[in-house]
Amino acid sequence: MTTHPSPTPTPFATGTDRSAELVRFDHVTKRFGDHVVLDDLDFAVAPRRHVTLIGPSGSGKTTILRLLMTLLRPDEGTITVDGDLLTHERRGGRLVPAGERHVRAVRRKIGMVFQQFNLFPNMRVLRNITEAPVHVLGRDRDEAEQRARELLELVGLSDKVDAYPGQLSGGQQQRVAIARALAMEPRVLLLDEVTSALDPELVAGVLDLLRDVARSTDVTMVCVTHEMSFARDVSDTVLMFDQGRVIESGPPEKIFTDPEQPRTREFLSAVL
Ligand code: ADP
Repeated sequence: MTTHPSPTPTPFATGTDRSAELVRFDHVTKRFGDHVVLDDLDFAVAPRRHVTLIGPSGSGKTTILRLLMTLLRPDEGTITVDGDLLTHERRGGRLVPAGERHVRAVRRKIGMVFQQFNLFPNMRVLRNITEAPVHVLGRDRDEAEQRARELLELVGLSDKVDAYPGQLSGGQQQRVAIARALAMEPRVLLLDEVTSALDPELVAGVLDLLRDVARSTDVTMVCVTHEMSFARDVSDTVLMFDQGRVIESGPPEKIFTDPEQPRTREFLSAVL
């Protein structure tokens, strides 16, 4: 157990109604050896909110996404997604660490877009998008293709249905990756530095798309970014991390113009 006092949980969800929270970290601690990366962390994200995690390198932001993707497990604490515990399950009335099958079922509620797109290079665009809905969700192929075409329209790539990823620009590949993530109908979309591998002239288009996605879908977004313009433009809540804890949170207009914590001011003056 950590000896530090826990900060008050950040109340992004309305009131204290936990059913109104889509993602919740309760007393989550993650260590690598002696290094405490997340320190008794509490936070919650309400449905349809678009939350950006900012803070210095090494403050634990990516670790949060990796915990949500179940690439890591916390040493202490629980993580809940859409009312289901991701980290634990009930067996015989007892709460035990989640088994693989339970983890897979809860993880289906979570989509992820990576910095490096991670498309399947040997599959055409349409197939990149339909593969998981067909094979993981068991969707009918025609239905999955119909939905993929709608998503390609949403991301402005209707004319690239038959292209291979290698024939697309980085910005276009990232649009396909966003469509692919949305095809799984996630409740939560995790975005990890999604514009940082793009040429500068392609960044604005992907940001515009994410703003559209934020407006036109019900998806809850949790983003990690170094780009403050991204945090300002796409999110409605910004969480400032320092040393594995949330030290400040609020709407971007408040955090970027009138932060309360000296550490936030210092960080922003270094990056803006
Ligand atoms: P951020 O995304 O805020 O830059 P990270 O979550 O990537 O921070 O990392 C937080 C800290 O955890 C860093 O000090 C990093 O070196 C450490 N860390 C991350 N992953 C590992 C790992 N697999 N093994 C050891 N240390 C790690």
